[in-house]
Amino acid sequence: MKFKDYQYKRPDMAAFKTQFTALLQAFKQAPDAEAQNQLIAEINALRNDVETMFKLVQIRYSIDTTDAFYETENDFVDEQQPVYEDMVVDYYRALVASPHRAALAEKWGKQLFDFAACKLKTSSPEVLPLVQRENKLASEYRKLMSSAAIEFNGGTYNLQQMGPFMQVADRAQRRAATNSYMSFFEENEAQLDRIYDDMVKLRHAIALKLGFNNFIELGYARMGRTDYDAAMVEGYRQQVLKAVVPLATELKARQRQRIGVAELKHYDEPFDFVDGNATPKGSLSQLVDCAQEMYRELSPETAEFFDFMVAGELLDLAVKKGKSGGGYCEFINNYKAPFIFANFNGTLDDVGTLTHEAGHAFQVFSSRNYALPEYVWPTLEACEIHSMSMEFITWPWMERFFKQDIAKFKFSHLANAVTFIPYGVTVDEFQHFVYQNPTASPAERKAAWREIERKYLPHRDYDGNDLLERGGYWYRQSHIFYMPFYYIDYTLAQVCALQFWHKSLGEQRETAWQDYLRLCQAGGSRAFLGLVELANLENPFVDGTIAKVMQPVSAWLDNAKQDF
Ligand code: ZN
Repeated sequence: MKFKDYQYKRPDMAAFKTQFTALLQAFKQAPDAEAQNQLIAEINALRNDVETMFKLVQIRYSIDTTDAFYETENDFVDEQQPVYEDMVVDYYRALVASPHRAALAEKWGKQLFDFAACKLKTSSPEVLPLVQRENKLASEYRKLMSSAAIEFNGGTYNLQQMGPFMQVADRAQRRAATNSYMSFFEENEAQLDRIYDDMVKLRHAIALKLGFNNFIELGYARMGRTDYDAAMVEGYRQQVLKAVVPLATELKARQRQRIGVAELKHYDEPFDFVDGNATPKGSLSQLVDCAQEMYRELSPETAEFFDFMVAGELLDLAVKKGKSGGGYCEFINNYKAPFIFANFNGTLDDVGTLTHEAGHAFQVFSSRNYALPEYVWPTLEACEIHSMSMEFITWPWMERFFKQDIAKFKFSHLANAVTFIPYGVTVDEFQHFVYQNPTASPAERKAAWREIERKYLPHRDYDGNDLLERGGYWYRQSHIFYMPFYYIDYTLAQVCALQFWHKSLGEQRETAWQDYLRLCQAGGSRAFLGLVELANLENPFVDGTIAKVMQPVSAWLDNAKQDF
């Protein structure tokens, strides 16, 4: 069956609510665990029906935002999703309170209950109107960001479209493009400050109403984190400061020499090589064929997975008019099918996106048969291990994509993995400051950002740009607005992915693959640290782990010194 044949019918939410409430009532009154297990299956079947329809709408709408039918359906989903999620929370409440919890936990494992308890802490009917206002502010940010119409070199561009101009070889052009890009934020500084200030105060109020001291704990609970806390993350950032920042700074110094500038200014940073970045060789369909061949050779499991994706037409990769930006991977419950969405533009990111999203899709395909929807995906820091590790595990095949550019590709992939980590912890530490100090003014927040940036990105030189010098870089980082405390996840996953990178280079390659496979098959059946252990990875929170992980990375990059 192909994706286009997956049938959409608008779910009857009133009927769903009646059925769901009846099942929930029966669950609460069920005499034993066996009866409750039967009802869990029925409840999940109902949930899968609704979620399947929601996802079909969201995917099809993102593929063509000018499709009037799916636009209407997308509005319907936006409106119904919070109502649906509230009903699921009612189910979690009943689950956690079950008198047969011990017997249920024996069958399903502890994670279902930890996860449900965590979600319960994040919602109550009392805060629903506040959460709706929070969502409205997020939409306001989205709208403002997509309204950008930047005049540059005779054309008008949105923020994404400015990207290529900021990487060109001509330094004056690069600088001009970056200044034009920043002018959007300068013009909208007051509005961005107002949106974020409202968000922070609202989130703080929600946290207090839910019984937290501030938003930090609530933010962690929203992310479903059950096995680490803010203190552990702080220790982790300390490790990054000691073990990653010096190497990242050295890589930036090498970049400065490589591109031949006396001082590496902020507008020079996206420009990596004088003769241009590595680019994939071949058309989109050739890249997909190449990926299919690669996944057939990699393992029987990846062969089955990618053949399923291609046969089901579950990849939408080409840039098209009316298509949403970005890339993602979704899972369509009732078809047990992953879906990969991307916007290929002929740059090295195309291959990166393909292997990254294929990592997510392979994981969800590997855990598609879990009876519990909660176990299909893990929490986000674990999800990014699957995707970022897949980018490294596929290195032996990358020559087929990049041909003569292979050495350049590998170097920039690994170097960017390193330099990303200090930026990621900057975003994280900033958010801890913000929610620890909810009454700080927008100017104080910006000053805090700049101070944190100086610590983790000491090489950064804003060349006198007023807004950036005052700490305005983070306006562009949408996670800070949409999903507070989501970002450290990418760095935690990167530390794990670098372990897979190292093991995959040498004699441990086969063992590493088995570890990766086990991790993907475990889905969300364990919390983050449980998954880390299951995959034979070193725990990033343990002091010394980061230094140990960085050793072979640093050695490899040193080895590449004569070339880059
Ligand atoms: Zn990802």
